[in-house]
Amino acid sequence: MTDSLFSQTKLSKVLVDNLQEIGYQSMTPIQAQTLPHILDGKDVIGQGKTGSGKTAAFGLGILHNLRVKRFRIQALVLCPTRELADQVAKEIRKLARAIHNIKVLTLCGGTPLGPQIGSLEHGAHIIVGTPGRIEDHLGRERLDLSEVNTIVLDEADRMLEMGFQATLDFILSKCPTQRQTLLFSATFPDQIAQLTKNIMSSPTSIKVEST
Ligand code: ADP
Ligand code: MG
Repeated sequence: MTDSLFSQTKLSKVLVDNLQEIGYQSMTPIQAQTLPHILDGKDVIGQGKTGSGKTAAFGLGILHNLRVKRFRIQALVLCPTRELADQVAKEIRKLARAIHNIKVLTLCGGTPLGPQIGSLEHGAHIIVGTPGRIEDHLGRERLDLSEVNTIVLDEADRMLEMGFQATLDFILSKCPTQRQTLLFSATFPDQIAQLTKNIMSSPTSIKVEST
């Protein structure tokens, strides 16, 4: 089998060169199967086990859609826990290293609201957070998602298990309907199938068994 190279995708040279520098030589199977659809702007459902490289798949999609000079929130990543949100933000910053001035802000529970409100006032391109805290900021009108073009639900099955269905519905209702929605999940219970029907448009489903 031949390697799938990031350079064979629509990714910009800046992003591809940086991937080389951080030691990502070829795409993992889930990246090879989802990234072309993601870069085409399609809604994508990705299923693959832990450690398969899902973060870079959606992270590169976000960076591909981003207009750095437009200093508005353009992407929102929802994660089940603060730890996962921190990991995702770290990975996105690594992927974005070669592009100057990209601001990634994490908004999670368990930390005081005040400093987060201050950070929001300073602005960001990408928000990574947990549903409860994002809902909280939206309710206080501290967060404007009207220019979001990419939404990611990471570990969607876990977010539903934690009872975030209504919260996700509320957050999604504050985002433009014209957008790209990416959903990643380890398992596909009926509730996920229902969710994807409600929030995605003609999604491409990709399931990768092995890594
Ligand atoms: P998942 O979300 O699928 O559980 P992650 O996105 O956290 O997996 O990735 C797992 C690890 O693999 C991370 O340490 C990440 O830096 C690394 N990784 C991702 N893509 C590549 C790649 N193409 N080449 C090398 N390492 C990669
Ligand atoms: Mg992950």
